Amino acid sequence: MSLAPEKSMVLEGLQQEAASGEAAEAALGLMAALYPICRSITGNGVRRTLDLVEEQIPLERTEVPSGTPAFDWEIPREWNIRDAWIADASGRRIVDFKAHNLHVVGYSVPVDRTMTLDELQPHLHSIPEHPDWIPYRTTYYRENWGFCLRHRDRQALGPGPYRVVVDSELAPGHLTYAESVIQGSTDGEAIVYTHTCHPSLANDNLSGIAVAVALARALRADRPRLTWRFVFGPGTIGSLAWLSRNEHRLPRLRTGLVIGLLGDAGPLKYKQSRRGTTVTDRAAAFVLSQDPHRGIVTSFEPYGYDERQFCSPGFDLPVGRLTRSSNGGYPEYHSSADDLSLIVPGKLAGSIRAAARMISVLDANRRLLNLSPKGEPRLGKRGLYGSIGGAGPGEFEHALLWVLSLADGSNDLLAMSERSGLEFSLLDRAATALEEAGLARILEEAGAPGPGVAR
Ligand code: ZN
Repeated sequence: MSLAPEKSMVLEGLQQEAASGEAAEAALGLMAALYPICRSITGNGVRRTLDLVEEQIPLERTEVPSGTPAFDWEIPREWNIRDAWIADASGRRIVDFKAHNLHVVGYSVPVDRTMTLDELQPHLHSIPEHPDWIPYRTTYYRENWGFCLRHRDRQALGPGPYRVVVDSELAPGHLTYAESVIQGSTDGEAIVYTHTCHPSLANDNLSGIAVAVALARALRADRPRLTWRFVFGPGTIGSLAWLSRNEHRLPRLRTGLVIGLLGDAGPLKYKQSRRGTTVTDRAAAFVLSQDPHRGIVTSFEPYGYDERQFCSPGFDLPVGRLTRSSNGGYPEYHSSADDLSLIVPGKLAGSIRAAARMISVLDANRRLLNLSPKGEPRLGKRGLYGSIGGAGPGEFEHALLWVLSLADGSNDLLAMSERSGLEFSLLDRAATALEEAGLARILEEAGAPGPGVAR
């Protein structure tokens, strides 16, 4: 008979699915379905993307009207595009949005003009070092228009004239973000944010969307302690919009991760929160040090993805970032070469496994107080200790003794695992057994900062 409670930590099943390749296969399927959609920071491409996500997990959508303030920013006008092309004198389309949505600069205003190559050049973008790749460019906050093309094709252009058409609409509308919320058993909350604003680019950031969907879907089948909120929104303006509407929620936010760019061949990277000492930072270092592929912990810098907003000094939240190669760290970044062929299934699986493990640890982590600290409490009479003498304590009994010893109010389960060298999940089960026996109580919700860490 096992003395240990059966209750397990969240997302253990997903970690197994990741190990078998099953989870990465499902994630790649979703990425392939999302890849052709032309997304931006606003517009119908985002809504269609959320439609496909909603086939897998329930979503609560928020539409924020253009002009709504979000701290020092405001929600821009909504951008939608039907078509865009450059045609030569014979009417042949030599650059065509319908062939690849990266061909048009995101947020290009409408245009219909005939112009020479010299007049057109300031509106063209290409990558001379990679003449067969189409660059990804945007002009969100400055009214302009432009085309992106292969440098090889750009060099072949004659003097013109060319007919240039962008059939787009930039008009008052909405910014769309969506949340999938898994209710926890305590009042602590956690957030996972991933950006949804990139058009046909696979690693940046369909990989992030697909990993978030895998995590949220699996977590729905578990009973987490924290309420986990997966937010699918555009980069920068999306997290600003979310923060501006959720300030009341932030005192309950125990932990958070910004995830994205998780399918390339680079090593896993956890970027610390601004404080660098939060429970998220400790859990990430702990999980990555045990991960078969290891991974790298990098310190905070005020550049990157949406962690910039969550970690801005007015919020200073315990939010870190999990990515692989990021911020231009791979040559294909922000170009048509960031397509589905760039995604390494084994790396995508490793990202899912590590993110699931981090969430699992962060959700279970808690500080405990030994309620019978004077001498060892008698575990045998409470059915917690093997009653046959002489055999020495088993693994579970060992974990009970470690939890009782370290449950002086200053240690959480992470600290106990580090000090004892025992498995986190074993200590979690021992802690649960002691809580149920009335020998220990939880001092605070999982993820709250440890002693000496200012809020
Ligand atoms: Zn990007």
